[in-house]
Formats: sequence, C-alpha cells, structure tokens
Amino acid sequence: MSHSYSDTQLLIDGQWQDAASGRKIPVRNPASGEVIGHVAHADVADLDRALAAAQRGFEVWRNVSAHERGAAMRRAAALLKERADEIAALLTQEQGKPVAEAKGEILAGVGIIEWFADEALRVYGRIVPSRRPEVQQLVIKEPVGPVAAFTPWNFPVNQIVRKIGAALATGCSFLCKAPEETPAAPAALFKCFVDAGVPAGVVGLVFGDPAQISSYLIAHPVIRKVTFTGSTAVGKQLAALAGQHMKRSTMELGGHAPVIVAEDADVALAVKAAGASKFRNAGQVCISPTRFLVHNSVREEFTRAMVAHAEGLKVGDGLVQGTQMGPLANPRRVTALSHLIEDAQKQGAKLLTGGASLGGAGNFFAPTVLGDVPLSAEIFNQEPFGPVAAIRGFDDLGEAIAEANRLSYGLAAYAFTRSIKTAHQLAQQVETGMLWINQPAVASAEMPFGGVKDSGYGSEGGPEALEAYLVAKAVSIAAV
Ligand code: NAD
Repeated sequence: MSHSYSDTQLLIDGQWQDAASGRKIPVRNPASGEVIGHVAHADVADLDRALAAAQRGFEVWRNVSAHERGAAMRRAAALLKERADEIAALLTQEQGKPVAEAKGEILAGVGIIEWFADEALRVYGRIVPSRRPEVQQLVIKEPVGPVAAFTPWNFPVNQIVRKIGAALATGCSFLCKAPEETPAAPAALFKCFVDAGVPAGVVGLVFGDPAQISSYLIAHPVIRKVTFTGSTAVGKQLAALAGQHMKRSTMELGGHAPVIVAEDADVALAVKAAGASKFRNAGQVCISPTRFLVHNSVREEFTRAMVAHAEGLKVGDGLVQGTQMGPLANPRRVTALSHLIEDAQKQGAKLLTGGASLGGAGNFFAPTVLGDVPLSAEIFNQEPFGPVAAIRGFDDLGEAIAEANRLSYGLAAYAFTRSIKTAHQLAQQVETGMLWINQPAVASAEMPFGGVKDSGYGSEGGPEALEAYLVAKAVSIAAV
C-alpha cells in the first residue's frame, strides 16, 4: 500500500510558504532511511515576519471572546478527527511508530484540544473584599502574550497540542518551531486551525536550525512566554536564555521513571501495564518506565514474563498491519542505545533478550531486557529513550524509594502494590511530577502533566496548564 508524503512549508501570517532563502532540509523515513520529502528552513528574515504576524495575531485574538475562541478550537478538533487517518499515515512515515499508535496520538489530541476549548470559558478572575467600602478590588486574568514553543519528534502532534491548546484558550498567539525530523504531521495539525478560521498570525509554524531559532525567538521582545519539550540539557540552556530576557517559561524535560513492583504486587498486571508502556513508541517517551525496581521475592517471575513480553512484540514498518513496535526515530538513538547496553553488560548486567540493532535498512532495534543492572550502569543514570527494560531487585520498600529518588530526574513514576498503606507511602515519598499506581500511564488533559527537579517546571495539563499562559492584573477602583 503506497502512501503519499508531501513537502512541508512554513506557516507565516496565515500563508503557507517556502523560506525566503529557498533553503530546505531533507526528511527521512526511519523505517527505510530513505528521503521522503523536504521541509523549509527558516532564516532570520522569515522569523521576523513570523514574529510581526504573531504580535498582530495576539492583538486580534486577545479581543476575541472566550466563547468564540473555544468554538474555533472545537472546529479545529473536529477537522483533526476527520483527518486522523491521513495525518497518522504522515506521522508514521516520518516518525516510525505503528500507524495505530499514530492515530491514537491524534485522537488523544482531539480530546485535549476540546478540553482546553471548554477551559477557555473558565478563566475566571476574582473580586477580593477590600478594606474600604468605597473600593472594589479585582484580579483580572490576561493572556501573557505571543508564545514561542519548541517541540520534539517523539509525539509530533501531541507535544504541540498541549501547548497550543492552553495558549489559544487563554488568548495568546502561538509561534511554534516544530521538529525538522517530523514536520508534516505538525503542519497538518496547524492546517486544521487555519481551516477552522483562526485569524492570520494567531498560529505560526517554522522549522530550521533549532539553536538559531530558539536563541532568536526567546530573546525577541515580541515573545512573552517560552515553552519547550525536550532533553534536560537543552531545556537548561533555553531556561537560562528565558531568564536572561525575563520571559516566563514552561520546561517539560527528560525523565527516568522508576517502576516499583512491591512484594504484594499483581505481577501479571505489572508486566502487562509497565511492559505496554515501556515499548510504546519504541521507548521514546519522556514518561517511559525505565528503572524497574522489583521486590526480590517476585523478581524472577516478573523478569521471565517481561522477557516473554519483549520477545512477543512484532517489530517492523509502522505502516504494516500488525506491527507493534516501529524503528527508532533516528540513527542517533541506535548508537546511544548500543552504547548503554554495552556499558551495562561491562558493569555486570545480564542481557536477557534483544540488545542490538536489527540491521538492514532503517533504525530497527530489538526490544531489550537487562537483569541485575548495577546502580552505576549508565542506563540507570541517563535517560535511555529506547526500548530497554532495565531490572534490579530490592528487599526493602525504603530502599526502592531511595533509589527512585536518587536521580536528579522527577517526571513520572509507577508502582504496583495491593496495599493501600504502601500506595499511600509511595504517594507521599516518591519525588515525581506524576505517579501511576497499578496502571499504565494515563495522561489525561484534566490532570497536571509535568515534572520536578531536573525534569523541569510548569504543567501541561489541568487548570495549571492555563495558568502558565496567564498574568494576573490587580485593579483597585475607588468610587469617588
Ligand atoms: P536533542 O536534545 O538534540 O533534541 C531534543 C529536541 O530538542 C529536538 O526536537 C531538537 O530539535 C530540540 N532542540 C535541540 N537543541 C535545541 C535548541 N538549542 N533550541 C531549541 N530546540 C532544540 O536530542 P535528540 O537526539 O533529538 O533526542 C534525544 C534526547 O532528547 C532523548 O534522550 C531525550 O532525553 C530527549 N527528548 C525528550 C523528549 C520529551 O518528551 N521530553 C522528546 C524528545 C527528545
């Protein structure tokens, strides 16, 4: 079955266009390594036009009523739903994930946009009792201004959806640098907003050199808010730049999620839930379960079942029916994973299945399970961002909690236990932005999504997500 894939242009001031310089970047299919299209490479001249449009777009959009903003967002969500199959095929061709996962990402995005559209109606201010009867005190919530967003390739649509949803709901304009590796699905998402009648300049999309674009946009006076999803190393650079220019920022960065499987866990459930989460999107997920800390009384049973789960996965081209895990998104991941696995083995970990690239064309890597992983192994310290379950045992819950908290990351954590007391203790003591107990990750629009420590700050779900795009103005009126 052949699928079409077209070149991607920039969206500036409501118009799809090539870069002024005509520069382009090739886009490859990670399942074949072949160039399947090109994306326009913006330079400063393009960015200047996009920034001026974002400023004009903001002046228009902030004055559109919340009801109308929400209605436009709902129209965009409906178009996204209508076009889900077509966009999923683009996403799989450029990113690699199975097309069913790609469609799931898009449909989840529809729900997130709808949720934010409704929240637009609930951006309330406050009337605060004053100390003098003739004075009325108001707190008014206003949109912070034009937003610069930087999003990665692992969820090309949904990493944008969480940001654009909150920005548009609150009345901000939104200029996004989306990933050069996976540009077509993001462009198709933006087309839904354009076709839904969102005014010119309210949404803009650029691609190019990430460091050049981020340093230009963050420093530019038009931009009032920065939001980034990506690695902790890049996030720290962008947060520093945002600080230097006094821009508000949200940082959704890397993670290294511990999975605590307690003595009294339902082991079959733990393998099913954490195994599915682990190999979803070939492990290229910031909340992917990564350090499996398993009570020694159930470790062997858990490990055996996890190996069987990994070996049962059908790896292949995401467009082929029945594929459960696609290739890694780029060759950098293959090199990084091979290194991490070699290091773990050198330090005494046991390779129980997988462990290597599957060879041939494309960035295919075998679903991998490592046992007896020492704490000093790099894979227990650096985010692997790949399909590797690294397992070690523990005897005492306190020991597992200390290990969960040992790293500077604090994004997601998982636990499996039948004890309410243990669940309560974990909820109190694990340093994490999100904790899922007895279930896989369920990242719903209405719940906060974000990390603590080196995993960043700010939230991309729940009412907290909207707060990040709002400023509070205190107004005090004396009736004279
Ligand atoms: P990377 O750090 O080079 O890039 C990550 C993302 O940030 C990419 O989309 C890239 O275009 C962007 N980026 C890089 N430098 C930038 C800059 N100066 N300004 C603006 N954007 C910039 O890493 P990579 O090889 O593409 O991905 C591997 C690592 O990235 C993973 O190990 C993981 O830690 C992290 N990552 C995290 C997420 C997430 O959801 N938190 C998503 C993708 C990648």
